[in-house]
Amino acid sequence: MANKIRKCNLCGRDESEVGYLLTGVNGCICNECAVEAGEIVRANSMSRSEVKIDNLPKPKEIKEYLDKYIIGQDDAKVALAVAVYNHYKRLNNPAADDEVELEKSNIIMVGSTGTGKTLLARTIAKMLVVPFTIVDATVLTQAGYVGEDVESILSRLLQVSDYKPEVAERGIVFIDEIDKIARKGDNPSITRDVSGEGVQQALLKLLEGSVINVPPYGGRKHPEQKFIQVNTRNILFICGGAFDGIEKRIAQRLNTHVVGFGASRDSSQIDKSDFMQYISPMDLKSFGLIPEIIGRLPVLTHLEPLGRDALRRILTEPKNSIIKQYIKMFELDGVKLTFEEEALDYVVDKAVEFHLGARGLRSIVETIMMEPMYEIPSQSLKEYDVTLDFAKSQVEKANMNALQNRGE
Ligand code: ADP
Repeated sequence: MANKIRKCNLCGRDESEVGYLLTGVNGCICNECAVEAGEIVRANSMSRSEVKIDNLPKPKEIKEYLDKYIIGQDDAKVALAVAVYNHYKRLNNPAADDEVELEKSNIIMVGSTGTGKTLLARTIAKMLVVPFTIVDATVLTQAGYVGEDVESILSRLLQVSDYKPEVAERGIVFIDEIDKIARKGDNPSITRDVSGEGVQQALLKLLEGSVINVPPYGGRKHPEQKFIQVNTRNILFICGGAFDGIEKRIAQRLNTHVVGFGASRDSSQIDKSDFMQYISPMDLKSFGLIPEIIGRLPVLTHLEPLGRDALRRILTEPKNSIIKQYIKMFELDGVKLTFEEEALDYVVDKAVEFHLGARGLRSIVETIMMEPMYEIPSQSLKEYDVTLDFAKSQVEKANMNALQNRGE
């Protein structure tokens, strides 16, 4: 028998050109093709069997999970839970040509900074079985200008999907600070609005569902990279923004409606302490989002401002609340840490007094705990109680200006 040169039946290279050949009954495969084939099989099985609706949490279960980490914000939690559940349902039931197509419902969450928008997104990400990424809209600019192109949003999603478009196409993207791409003035033609309307137009393409050429490594630093095509039809977009000053617009609209023809709400029924709850797509438009974008974000939900009670609960109740984290930290040193109730109330008072919101709670607790954290590991203490007097003395000692800046 002639000494036949063995070749890989897939790529055609012979034994000398590859690492080694695996031999089967009727042919061979080289090590490189075997790896590639393995990856394709894995990607396919992931995208087909990753999501099984039977095992997926129901909206109520998703909300219960969110409740463990986030205080209040029920409207936003329900909207998110339903959206995520429906997202899975759509993925599991791709419509045949003659069937009713389940359209996706992207979400927009509006709420002042520090009310838990990002926390909601991060928390829900922990329980998702599809790729998820958080991107910041502030860096986006119109193509050709300094900053990032809108397509970079999908680069991030591709990265967490191991660069597999078929996996990314099932993902969820959280676009934070969407209000930063609002049109700056009423007349967009006066100055070039590179971070406003142009970006919104580009973003619209993503939200609408189209095939986008995505630079896999993002940015423009790799001009040689090949584009990967990603179809955004099934990608769920969740947007969040503070929309600073939108309450004034809501109030204005409500007032004019109240006096105007067809007023549906008596002005005495309006809860003036929280105008955000009355937000409507009209307000987003008057803030500077283009109607097409608003139309592609059909679920509009709001986050409530965090009052004293909410802040007090945030300190101790969430599964990984700040106080629980400190107790754990001390426990690792064998010290049982406790806080006087009054000391915790004092922390909340200071956060309210300095308008630091939930973000400020951590910086205030850190200020109080710095000294004990420094001293206690060298002492042979078994217990340590943080009293109101101690908390006061530490906060008063600290430079309040510095504290205020840290809360920003
Ligand atoms: P946003 O994205 O709305 O500006 P974040 O989600 O980043 O606000 O919130 C900042 C921090 O404040 C969070 O990391 C969390 O510690 C705390 N926080 C804010 N809102 C809540 C809430 N509703 N429940 C629990 N913690 C919260």
